[in-house]
Amino acid sequence: MRILVFILAFLSASAFSQQKEGVEVKRSRLLLLPASTVENSAAQQYGQLMRAAAQKNALNVDKQQVERLRNIARALIPHSKRFNKDAERWRWEVNLISSKTVNAFCMPGGKIAFFTGIVDQLRLTDDEVAVIMGHEIGHALLEHGRARMSEQVLKSVGITVAAAIFNLGQLSAELLAQAANLAVSLPYARKQETDSDLVGMELAARAGYDPRAAAAVWHKMSKLGQAAGKGQPPQFLSTHPSHEMRIKEIEANLPKVLPLYKKQ
Ligand SMILES: [Zn+2]
Repeated sequence: MRILVFILAFLSASAFSQQKEGVEVKRSRLLLLPASTVENSAAQQYGQLMRAAAQKNALNVDKQQVERLRNIARALIPHSKRFNKDAERWRWEVNLISSKTVNAFCMPGGKIAFFTGIVDQLRLTDDEVAVIMGHEIGHALLEHGRARMSEQVLKSVGITVAAAIFNLGQLSAELLAQAANLAVSLPYARKQETDSDLVGMELAARAGYDPRAAAAVWHKMSKLGQAAGKGQPPQFLSTHPSHEMRIKEIEANLPKVLPLYKKQ
């Protein structure tokens, strides 16, 4: 059974994204769930969340701000296929939820949400929105959510059952919904964070936004975390753990993406 799982993981593993310029990152390896299953489940979760926000009159209230986010997304998205060809057929969405929560995410399949808390409390410039959005898109392109959902399903039903029902038609919608929720509410691993930082910087640079904003965002974020002290830290920090090396790695990779920005 272990061998079977190994083979499945190997078959679904993606090769290095081959690029002559820009950053070098790897897609996730444990991708037991088909991308379409993950994307459908994420789209359902996202739809539910947006309907709940609309019911509370908290969806896309500030039209100008929504337009700003969508313009930045329109500039970033055409470059995303460099990291994942499937992104070309994704049905991208960008919405703004009125909430003090300091958070933003991109679910598998390109479902992006920003909370007003992150935009207002960090007083984000366009460059900073671009690197945060690019970072979130990076998690989706590198299929960190898909890997996470696959892990959750394996944990829930056990590896034997998951392999036995590998066509996965038999997995309950409820189980997938649970896995999709966990996929955005658990912290990402350090390597996933760094890889997403790099993707975000490259997408931003290619779209004409200054990738140096990535370091600025993390300085602002950690200041906000410190200011919160023993209180509630920004949610973004709990799902995207900061680590000492993070800003250093961002800075070390700047020379790979700055030329792309300066070409504009
Ligand atoms: Zn992250």
